[in-house]
Amino acid sequence: QCVSVCPTGALTEVDHTNDIIRALSDPTKTVVVQTAPAVRAALGEEFGLPPGTLVTGKMVSALRELGFDYIFDTDFSADLTIMEEGTELLQRLQQYLAGDTEVRLPILTSCCPGWVNFFEHNFPDLLDVPSTAKSPQQMFGAIAKSYFAEKIGVNRKDMIVVSIMPCLAKKYECQRDEFKADGNPDVDYSISTRELAAFIKQANIDFLNLPDGNFDDPLGESSGAGVIFGNTGGVIEAACRTAYELYTGKTLEKVDFHALRGMEGIRSATVDFDGLQLNIGIAHGLGNARKLLNDVKAGKSQYHAIEIMACPGGCIGGGGQPYHHGNSEILSKRIAAIYTEDKRKVIRKSHENPSIIRLYEEYLGKPGSHKAHQLLHTEYFPKSNEVTIHLHG
Ligand code: SF4
Repeated sequence: QCVSVCPTGALTEVDHTNDIIRALSDPTKTVVVQTAPAVRAALGEEFGLPPGTLVTGKMVSALRELGFDYIFDTDFSADLTIMEEGTELLQRLQQYLAGDTEVRLPILTSCCPGWVNFFEHNFPDLLDVPSTAKSPQQMFGAIAKSYFAEKIGVNRKDMIVVSIMPCLAKKYECQRDEFKADGNPDVDYSISTRELAAFIKQANIDFLNLPDGNFDDPLGESSGAGVIFGNTGGVIEAACRTAYELYTGKTLEKVDFHALRGMEGIRSATVDFDGLQLNIGIAHGLGNARKLLNDVKAGKSQYHAIEIMACPGGCIGGGGQPYHHGNSEILSKRIAAIYTEDKRKVIRKSHENPSIIRLYEEYLGKPGSHKAHQLLHTEYFPKSNEVTIHLHG
């Protein structure tokens, strides 16, 4: 019996690789896979490559050799998250600027299930503060099993969605009841970066000599803003790239918000939205998050928006990544790799992703629409603080 414990305290690690192998060998199933931004910056370490080596193309080729029918990118749904979360941020800001004293500010990011789990347990009186936007993993599942399933004429019950995540809390997130339709989960199985590496080795795939493959369309297209979700500060930087243009109606010339980057546990920055000074807070690590949340609770927070990620460095330091043993040099190299991937992208703002534009035109209407709310938003629940330990064989 082997149990790994998630550093976010969310859960124990259950490996679903055998379930995925069964799904891949079932001809009645269409098996779709999504890969989180941080995975490509660390997977190579399991094959002896130096930290910070990007293996995006080899990862795609390996997934193709493993037999997945469609290889998509969570970066796509990170772009979608920005469309919904950025719209929510602007709506709350506009209400605030119009003098609405009831509006909940700061808005908190909601894409990290380790963090969501933490505030549901520890701040049950603040459940209306975080954005209602689902995480990119769950937005992907919801869109794959509706829009994409309809496009290819597959019943959602015959589609299996697998996610490759740097994270162990994502395993628990995809099992939450609010992310199911008639008991069928939007994301069936979530495996970690380490588990994917073991799966590739088990299949005898010569990872290091694989050619670079490309993601499939349409849920494989992404902007640089989607990629930087993997780093602490990346979600709020991506949100600023889009929210700035939506708020000011002007083109953002410099997309790199260096003030939002870095490794300090708590960071602050002010971003100029054409005269509106937006105060941003960033925390990674749950001890740091607690400090910012205590200020929100006491009504003392100076921020309009706060990004919180549970793991050190954000998802690049997630509990499902190759072990880094607290080595900040390894984390810094992964962070640099993610910013390199962002720079290489032709499109670096979420709202300019052509597949996202098409998704709204063909299916969702506009950000924050009724359909977008049904598929892409969620709610939070107060949780007890009892500690339950699940052991499994
Ligand atoms: Fe998972 Fe990323 Fe949150 Fe860590 S920071 S718990 S890896 S979503």
